[in-house]
Amino acid sequence: MYKNTVLLIRPVFLVLFLFLGAGVPGCGSSGEKSAEQAWSGLSDEGSGMTVEELMRSPKIDAHAHFMALAEEDEEKFIAKLDEHNISWLTLCTVGTNWANLQKQISLAERLHSRYPNRVSWATSFNLENWGSPDWEKEAIKTIADGIEKGALAVKVWKEFGMVLKDPGGSFVMIDDPRLDPVFDYIEAQGLTLAAHIGEPITCWQPVDSMSNQAARDYYRKNPQYHGYLHPEVPGYWEQVLTRDRMLEKHPGMRVVGSHLGSLEWDVDELAKRLDRYPNFAVDMGARIYNLQEQEREKVRNFIIKYQDRLLYGTDLVAGWGEKGVAGDIELLDKTYLSDYRYFATDEEIEVLQISESAHVRGLALPANVLKKIFYENARKWFPGI
Ligand SMILES: [Zn+2]
Repeated sequence: MYKNTVLLIRPVFLVLFLFLGAGVPGCGSSGEKSAEQAWSGLSDEGSGMTVEELMRSPKIDAHAHFMALAEEDEEKFIAKLDEHNISWLTLCTVGTNWANLQKQISLAERLHSRYPNRVSWATSFNLENWGSPDWEKEAIKTIADGIEKGALAVKVWKEFGMVLKDPGGSFVMIDDPRLDPVFDYIEAQGLTLAAHIGEPITCWQPVDSMSNQAARDYYRKNPQYHGYLHPEVPGYWEQVLTRDRMLEKHPGMRVVGSHLGSLEWDVDELAKRLDRYPNFAVDMGARIYNLQEQEREKVRNFIIKYQDRLLYGTDLVAGWGEKGVAGDIELLDKTYLSDYRYFATDEEIEVLQISESAHVRGLALPANVLKKIFYENARKWFPGI
């Protein structure tokens, strides 16, 4: 009965959205109303959800990347997001490749203007000009241009700490005072900083000692980012502690740490930072298998305790895979369905990212917690989404 009502009234909201919401970043007010209704029928404190119910409920993937998407593939891709009732926050990234970053920015602007209720975006800034007298002015100009086109966050990447160097050869770290004016601007504009700083702890271990297959695969393919092979690159704790110092220096800036804030290996270590830095939250992008590697009850209790600070995210990419958009969509389906099962049910799930034989039991989180991590927290930590 309730479901029929939703189906009947949804087209009315859509029409209203076209009139009222066009050009407004993120969901229009009508979109919010129908979204609230979809969750409210399920939000009895403590009750669970089925995979189908979670799939139907409005969600946000707070860590995704549109790298490329041909215009003729757009509708197919967006229809897939509609099917999952999920919106993407696409994080434009890698300032040391300015040409590629500009392409991502143009694509994000185009998709956000065409599908404002499905695509939000984070901008970034050029680092090829690092050290030139105007770099900071140019960085702020790029961010300001992004705001005009609806950007609601700024992404910084692990090139701070691991790639970008000063002429003397020392790595530029994320707490570098030369970044302060940019961070001050981000804070003054009410934007969020999405910060991928450091790498998983396994990055500084030999491949054969890594605890999961995903890390072994990644560092075999990307030896340039494998800290273990590059002793000149600052180590794991230096990355984490430098990021912590950046948080201390900018307590007023909202920061969402990508990839569980590079503390993917231990929810207790992550909890310490969430306790210490109230303006810090984390997305789960490409690190859900690290939660799955840890003890189930401990992870479940952690998620329930920090239910306001954790954002669902995947690091899914459109336009990168060898199989084209069909391959991207196939991976998207597989990833989302597996994640719905892990968070919502207590079914056994195969986790190939850990190993070929790894199985874990789902967390069966209550609906009110699922609503926060899949939806409400992204809206709170990325205002305007
Ligand atoms: Zn990413």
